[in-house]
Amino acid sequence: MSDSSPSGALAPPRARHHRGVYDALVIGGGLVGSAVAFGLRQQLDHVAVLDEGDIAFRASRGNFGLVWVQSKGMGMPAYGHWTMSSQQLWPRLAGLLHELTDLDVGLEQRGGLHPVLTEEEYEHRIRFMSELLDQPGMVQYDWKMLDRKELADLVPGIGPEVLGATWTAVDGVANPLKMLRALHTAFDRQRVDYLPLHPVADIALRHGVFEMSTPHGKIQARKVVLASGLSNQALGKQVGLEVPVRPQRGQIVVLERTQRILQTPFSTLRQTDEGSWLIGDSQEEAGYADGVVGLPVLATLADRAVRTLPALRDVRVVRSWSALRVMSRDGFPIYEQSATHPGAFVATCHSGVTLAAAHALRVAPMVVEGALPGDMAPFSTRRFHVQETA
Ligand SMILES: Cc1cc2nc3c(=O)[nH]c(=O)nc-3n(C[C@H](O)[C@H](O)[C@H](O)COP(=O)(O)OP(=O)(O)OC[C@H]3O[C@@H](n4cnc5c(N)ncnc54)[C@H](O)[C@@H]3O)c2cc1C
Repeated sequence: MSDSSPSGALAPPRARHHRGVYDALVIGGGLVGSAVAFGLRQQLDHVAVLDEGDIAFRASRGNFGLVWVQSKGMGMPAYGHWTMSSQQLWPRLAGLLHELTDLDVGLEQRGGLHPVLTEEEYEHRIRFMSELLDQPGMVQYDWKMLDRKELADLVPGIGPEVLGATWTAVDGVANPLKMLRALHTAFDRQRVDYLPLHPVADIALRHGVFEMSTPHGKIQARKVVLASGLSNQALGKQVGLEVPVRPQRGQIVVLERTQRILQTPFSTLRQTDEGSWLIGDSQEEAGYADGVVGLPVLATLADRAVRTLPALRDVRVVRSWSALRVMSRDGFPIYEQSATHPGAFVATCHSGVTLAAAHALRVAPMVVEGALPGDMAPFSTRRFHVQETA
């Protein structure tokens, strides 16, 4: 989410703990970069994160907070496995952060629901889930189409139009803002140099060391991870990485806090650990029109939420926002090491909350190791070349 406040002026840099060449440096301090940096620090002594600051597009500050598995992986079973592995690692990541920072990131993994409101949606959803899980090599988990009565037992007050919902035990939520806070508190505790207002303009590789140009001078590292969201495309070119990402706008409506009544989140409606209601989120190809909130889209989101849970009709809207997802050409994540600039990696995806645990506990060790194993090959950008020549 971008911030239109006049915070574009560069503040004095934070003091650095380390003045020499970093073992590894992450460009981008959103959820992807912060999770990777946290993981890197568990194995390396000197780690830095450079972030552009509040003037940047920052999906990590404007998302819905689902840690979600159902629906993921159609067309790429490897993504289904990857998502599931992150879901399984999430409690470990939340535990590590809690141990280090005493902060609770609001992880709840009590299952998740995808509502269906018409016969057509009902049939489509059953077909979709069956085809998804029938793909050769797809990860398997239990799912069920709950009928109205089964759903009403789980979610009291369900609307008369709701025909049912698909349910899995593997879905959940976390609080993305608390997550970012915990990661950044961990940086303080573990002496990771987090340097906001350090937009990277250029990356050069000299004698095996990467040199990042920022308005506060050059910063060097032996390894670099590009995790700068939508900026990965431009930065990637400088280290021989093609990163085809585009902005996809999502809008979210927030309702005032009420007593907690919804324990199991829907894919488009959830109640936070603090009682607020989140309704979301749209998927719009609107270019870089971040910060623009469109009434027709919000009205559609709100209408569906009220049809799902009619009691929400009396709950007041307190705010709404839009933010830009970081969407690759085919919607799947990109993880790759540069062939021309070994030691430079890119990590980008549109589900940075869900995949935070995989980024911290799986991608970071791969970066330390200096190689992505063979089972990460589906996430390489080589898949786009195959698509182009096919
Ligand atoms: C409306 C909406 C709902 C969503 N819901 C969910 C959900 O329920 N579950 C889920 O898993 N995901 C969800 N997402 C996606 C999730 O928010 C993103 O996948 C995640 O935030 C991406 O994180 P990121 O760190 O790659 O990018 P960003 O958060 O965009 O961060 C990029 C960072 O890079 C920095 N940067 C940019 N350029 C430079 C530069 N040149 N130098 C230094 N730093 C730079 C910026 O300052 C920024 O902090 C949602 C997204 C949106 C928009």
